[in-house]
Amino acid sequence: MSGSAHATKPTAHAHLDEAWPSQRRVVPGDLLQGDVERFALFLDCDGTLLDIAATPNDVRVPPGLVELLVRLSKKLGGALAILTGRQLAEIDALLAPVEFVGAGVHGAELRAAAGGRITRVANALPASLVEEIVRRTQSRPGIIPEPKGPGIAVHYRLAPHLKDAVEADLRGLLGRYPDDLVLCPGRKLFEIIPAGHSKGTALETILGLPGFAGRQPIMIGDDMGDMPALAAAQRLGGAGMRVAGEQFGDSDVELHGPADVIAWLQRLADRLGA
Ligand SMILES: [Mg+2]
Repeated sequence: MSGSAHATKPTAHAHLDEAWPSQRRVVPGDLLQGDVERFALFLDCDGTLLDIAATPNDVRVPPGLVELLVRLSKKLGGALAILTGRQLAEIDALLAPVEFVGAGVHGAELRAAAGGRITRVANALPASLVEEIVRRTQSRPGIIPEPKGPGIAVHYRLAPHLKDAVEADLRGLLGRYPDDLVLCPGRKLFEIIPAGHSKGTALETILGLPGFAGRQPIMIGDDMGDMPALAAAQRLGGAGMRVAGEQFGDSDVELHGPADVIAWLQRLADRLGA
């Protein structure tokens, strides 16, 4: 799938697509020749640091990853944040015992200080909507709903032939909340998230925090939901790097999968003397 296809594809996800044409290519190795001490790192998790698995519960955290992230965070004065579509509590469980600064559910949750409290910055989805989505998935084998407070993901990785049916279902239900909720497509999933929140708004908020302010934002992500943050990092004087996967093709990306991301982070750690 090419970048130009994304740029011209008419979709209902204008809040995501508008970020796409402005994305500039950077060379990962060249970025490491810059003033790396001034970086603020923003990292997506699934598909970026972790290989995608059959279900969200099946992901594996590679040995040494948490230690690497801790070393980088220390060398960057704490300026390392996780930007995820999951709830932050799930990321905490995966990266235990460390609780990184970050945003969950596409900016609807925020943790402003490492080890600090998670605050929810958007309302929970209406219970009736969540119940209706879960009820409908029960009649579709292989479709996995993942309610997560202010948002919900519906995974079709195990039943890709049901993609269109799931999307039609969700679009129909979203028609009841035209101003409040948006549909965000991802890697073998659809997500419903609160309007006005994205990983881009989260990056901007976190970049204003003590420890992050004045730094050069570097965002790494692999999916549609990362695009607002990739664009925000670039707009705010930094850079975005895309990771190859089902969303971004190998010819469109700066990094070629989680192993490549981790190798780049290790080179950054070496440059920082971590
Ligand atoms: Mg991802």
